[in-house]
Amino acid sequence: MGLGAVMLGACAEPVERPEQDEEGEVVVEPAAGARLCAEMEPWIEAEIERVGREVGLRPAFELGVTLGASAVATECVEPGDIRAVQGCTVGDGAAVAVVTTPGTFAHELVHALRRHQGLRTRPLFEEGFAELRGGSDAYPRVDQLEPAALAEVRQPEAMIELGPSEFRDGQSYRAAAHFLAFVEQTDGPEALASFMRGGLDDSAADARRRFELHFGASLSERAEAWRQQGPHEVSEGDPCTGGAEPLPATGARIEVTVDCDAPGTMGLAGAEETAWRRTCVAVEAGRYVIALEAEAGSVYAEPAAGSCDPSTSALDRAPFGLEAGEQAALELGACTWALTFASTRDQPEALVLRVDPG
Ligand SMILES: [Zn+2]
Repeated sequence: MGLGAVMLGACAEPVERPEQDEEGEVVVEPAAGARLCAEMEPWIEAEIERVGREVGLRPAFELGVTLGASAVATECVEPGDIRAVQGCTVGDGAAVAVVTTPGTFAHELVHALRRHQGLRTRPLFEEGFAELRGGSDAYPRVDQLEPAALAEVRQPEAMIELGPSEFRDGQSYRAAAHFLAFVEQTDGPEALASFMRGGLDDSAADARRRFELHFGASLSERAEAWRQQGPHEVSEGDPCTGGAEPLPATGARIEVTVDCDAPGTMGLAGAEETAWRRTCVAVEAGRYVIALEAEAGSVYAEPAAGSCDPSTSALDRAPFGLEAGEQAALELGACTWALTFASTRDQPEALVLRVDPG
């Protein structure tokens, strides 16, 4: 679930800013044939509140959201599309609607709240800002990038020229998110949020002018400072807010039942949607044999941002996944690992992860 996942919105032009002050609400429905799992409703409420607060916008009209990968596949993916589309925001003004996987809900909500207000700027800012607000504890994002190593076409000075149909690949999304994270770090969250609310940019020249007026530095100056900062990490959300159990030196057998209707379960069930549960373990550095004993389902392991011992290499903290019945011998860094157990079968699924010193 890295920032590399390509998340695309539809390209229709927004309409003029609505004049009325009326307030709408966000209405979330699962995809046809699916249902929301036990923890989803409070999570959705909390995400609507968080995203609204962080972008400083509320829905002006009723905002319909359809949640589920099956809906994304039919509503968002264009024929012949080979990109990993995770969601889309369609329509304008009062007619804005969102179709998305849970992992891209916050990203699309940023687009939709902006479209309700008729706000628009360049894709560099629209996508970078949506990516930056898109990570959460349930769906965290961690990404490392060396700005100076990016090709010229991925530098902010070039990307600001790109329109929606040209701004499509995952690398552009990553670079945009990292650059805006740097602007936010330099100028503060409210300065970035108010820049995003601050105007309509019909051209790259308009956007450059407004950037310089707002931040007191040109886009090129900020971009140059960003490149000079060197490699850096952007992370949003902590998958292990509930704490972590230490993994015993002798190994462990971690047993999890993924049951959409039981407390602690996220995601959706039915229509081949994914239900999931997460547990966190603090691991000592070393070599392990890891096996997922289950009839079906999978586990995805990723370190919580900032949890790894500084001596841990990038390789030893790389996320990994196992399908039911698979086994792997892996060198694991000393990190708090978030283990996300998932199932697409609409029934309680018992999964056992065996972790033994290898
Ligand atoms: Zn987007």
